[in-house]
Amino acid sequence: MNNKIVGFVYIVIIVVSLYGCAVQQTLGAQDILVTDQAAFEKAVDAAKPGDVVKLANGTWEDFEILFTGRGEKDNPIRLTAETKGKVFITGQSNLRLAGEYLEVSGLVFKDGFTPTQEVISFRQNKDTLANNSRVTEVVIDNYNNPERFETDFWVMMYGKNNRFDHNHLVGKRNKGVTMAVRMNTEASRENYHRIDHNYFGPRTILGSNGGETLRIGTSHHSRLNSFTTVENNYFDRCDGELEIISSKSGKNILRNNTFFESRGTLTMRHGNNTLVEGNVFFGNGVDHTGGVRVINGGQIVKNNYLEGLKGTRFGGALVVMNGVPNSPINRYDPVKDAVIENNSLIDSDNVQLGAGSDAERSAVPTNTTFSNNLITNEDGRDVFTVYDDMSGIAFSANVLGSMDPPDFAQGFGRQAVALSRADNGLLYPASDVNAGVSRDLSVTRKSDTGVDWYSKPDKTEPFGFGKTITVAPTEGELYLAMEKAEAGDTLLLQAGKHVARKFLRIDKPVTIKADGDVSLSFERTTLFEILDGGSLQIIGMNITGADSPDYAGNSVIRTSPYSMLQNYHLEIIDSDFSDFDVNHTFNVISTAKGTFADNILIRNSSFSDVTGSILKLDKEFDDFGIYNSEYLTIEGSKFENVQGSLVDYYRGGTDESTFGPHFKLTGSELINVGGGKRNKTKASLYLHGVQVTNIENNTFVDSKPFKINHTVGEPKTVIVDNLFTNTPAPVVEELNSGLQPTAVIKNNSGIN
Ligand code: CA
Repeated sequence: MNNKIVGFVYIVIIVVSLYGCAVQQTLGAQDILVTDQAAFEKAVDAAKPGDVVKLANGTWEDFEILFTGRGEKDNPIRLTAETKGKVFITGQSNLRLAGEYLEVSGLVFKDGFTPTQEVISFRQNKDTLANNSRVTEVVIDNYNNPERFETDFWVMMYGKNNRFDHNHLVGKRNKGVTMAVRMNTEASRENYHRIDHNYFGPRTILGSNGGETLRIGTSHHSRLNSFTTVENNYFDRCDGELEIISSKSGKNILRNNTFFESRGTLTMRHGNNTLVEGNVFFGNGVDHTGGVRVINGGQIVKNNYLEGLKGTRFGGALVVMNGVPNSPINRYDPVKDAVIENNSLIDSDNVQLGAGSDAERSAVPTNTTFSNNLITNEDGRDVFTVYDDMSGIAFSANVLGSMDPPDFAQGFGRQAVALSRADNGLLYPASDVNAGVSRDLSVTRKSDTGVDWYSKPDKTEPFGFGKTITVAPTEGELYLAMEKAEAGDTLLLQAGKHVARKFLRIDKPVTIKADGDVSLSFERTTLFEILDGGSLQIIGMNITGADSPDYAGNSVIRTSPYSMLQNYHLEIIDSDFSDFDVNHTFNVISTAKGTFADNILIRNSSFSDVTGSILKLDKEFDDFGIYNSEYLTIEGSKFENVQGSLVDYYRGGTDESTFGPHFKLTGSELINVGGGKRNKTKASLYLHGVQVTNIENNTFVDSKPFKINHTVGEPKTVIVDNLFTNTPAPVVEELNSGLQPTAVIKNNSGIN
């Protein structure tokens, strides 16, 4: 063959090969890379089973993704990122999928919020749903409506046989459940969805109802079956409200999930025959960490591990509720035919049986077994509280460690149990004890969930994790330093007189600390304004109102007048506040509606000559069950000549979805507090709807009485070891419950 012929043959071979490829391409999958929204729509319209529509790397702003089509089993139509984790959906965006065998992966939603009710919805509209479809390896990161109490949802599952797996959902901060399975039409019932290997990252305390992480069904359709499986997920500090998971339908499986330091419980709120198995709860002693709450018929709770849970009442480690005879669909069906076996409850505070027993919830559990559970506490304290007749529960072969057997039933054996931690991270008795969880329980780890290309948040300190900036007492320097500071920084103020001529805007966590004798005064109507993302710590300062303008209604610290999504911390330590009397109603700390503190702490500080109140936490006055601060703690401090109250703390309404507010006052002194003529409450301390109150070892002199209103739930108020001098006794009222007063008021001097 001469060279020309050889060349010709080669060309023929190449052409034939290329043709072969092309044929294969039309028979099989096409990858279609799109770079704008119009191209995306075109590609989706034309997509065939097996096709992959890829969004080009970069930021897609204001993109309402509608992904429809009909893939085939094992040959879905896919929507994904050119590179997973490199495609950002921002602004006013969302995702709807509708059709058959669709799969979405690799996208990141951040820097914006949905313009509709949902970020990801498994339907186009009420009639057009997704079935046999999957969303996997998608991230939703702080994609929140800026209005804290505007409700929306991150993921709504409709249709049947859908899967939501290996996703990363972190930082839901506005109202509305993070994720829900809907059963509102026939086409979404008996759905067999699978929700697995997701990372449900931190959800901070909402301070209202509507902070659930996962809900399956609603009360309306709760006597129907969902058949949803929730397994191998990791719930990391999901603190939104008292329900982490609310199962409101029948025949769900909740299996092998891990709950890490999450406040609240897995609640079988409605529906029958749900299986709760192999879940692991690590409370690590965090307030209000709970376990499993059992309501309705045929529930099975077995082989679950619960350690270090501090929750009380309905939020205990294990709660079996009383029901309502012939219950309306939205109340409490009685517990019957439940099986509770082989669970380990270790160093957890509360097992509640017949919880909620009252005139309405009078139906006790029936035909229920409680067996082979291991219940042990390092301190040997009895963890059982029994509210009603428990003869409908057969207790057998339970092992109690060093605790005394409860007296309400047989079936609890006491056995010395030395625990050691096994490779799976769980505590097991060293000796052969035939109770508690199995040795081979496989624990879902954080790293088993979500995606590996998006980092999961660790725990951080609220303050002091940045650098130190020295601030001289020269004009304007404090303002500039504050503007320049980064999250976690400390401004170290040098000795002398500092004057703030502008508002100091706190939009990051920052510490202001005195180096020597530092005084700080201010010339505007407030000194510090805490904005979204801000937190403030004040250490060792002398703050005075001597240079404040002669207006009514000044404050030292206030929160943003606009809604804040991020909960803030405020700490005042070793500081003196004085001379806030240039005009009337000068408050030290004044909060606004739509703002929420995780924690306010005042320690070893003094406050004098204040024409307003020290703390105004009373701006959520709509009686929606919303409030301004989860914890308020005052220790070792002194308040003198305060015309308003120490605190006006208001949590209205009768909703029972929150653990807070909490109030603690210890080792402090109030002298002449509350007597100003503008103080509407006529109280030195006004607490309305506060859930946990502890007032201990204080002195009250020449002050108005406390007024404490119990409104809802089972508020715990303890007033002990205080000295009252020329100060009337506390007034505690039960406003809605009609119950006898429940406050513990004892060992106080100076009152009868
Ligand atoms: Ca709720």
